[in-house]
Amino acid sequence: MSDRGDDGADAEAGTTEMTPPATVLLDLDGVVAQQLPLTCEYLAEEHGVHLEPHEIDDWSYPIPELDGHIGHVITDLMRERPAWYFGEMPAVEGVHEGVAALREAGYRVEIATHRIPETHDHSKAWLAEQGIEYDAFHHEVPRDKGALPGDVLIDDYHGNVANAIAAGKHGVLLRQPYSDPTACAGAHVADSWGEIRRFFGV
Ligand SMILES: [Mg+2]
Repeated sequence: MSDRGDDGADAEAGTTEMTPPATVLLDLDGVVAQQLPLTCEYLAEEHGVHLEPHEIDDWSYPIPELDGHIGHVITDLMRERPAWYFGEMPAVEGVHEGVAALREAGYRVEIATHRIPETHDHSKAWLAEQGIEYDAFHHEVPRDKGALPGDVLIDDYHGNVANAIAAGKHGVLLRQPYSDPTACAGAHVADSWGEIRRFFGV
């Protein structure tokens, strides 16, 4: 683990190239960790709402039983049960090998998540447990991820990818059922970590 515990401020200036030693900003939920299986488990056990992860095809998928949508449920879990939620998520298939291959090729990998800062220790512990190494962990991530220094963003939320592209970065959208590739024109759209690795040539 080479987490410097800083905010990435010592990273080199962006090169806006997808070649080493470019800095890759890496989202967590939906890219490194699967947040929906536990979200669905919680909905079923605590609220009797039965949903399968693949059915959640919108960031505002409505949960009328809770008078809200899936985003509200995720926010509540993040605030109320972070140890369980961020400690028990299954990894996304292929992420271990994918992140290792990026770093071995000379890319700098920095974690950039919109999880709240109070939960970062749980996220770091999970990453360590998974054996996923990275170069920095951004403790404060602005709503606009394009504002972070770096060259490429890998994210499952089209809004974040669009912001990165608008800021002159490369954007890689790891498509999930709720992702909308039409909302981030110019993105590299991948359906797996295998495809992400092909974009980077690693
Ligand atoms: Mg995400």
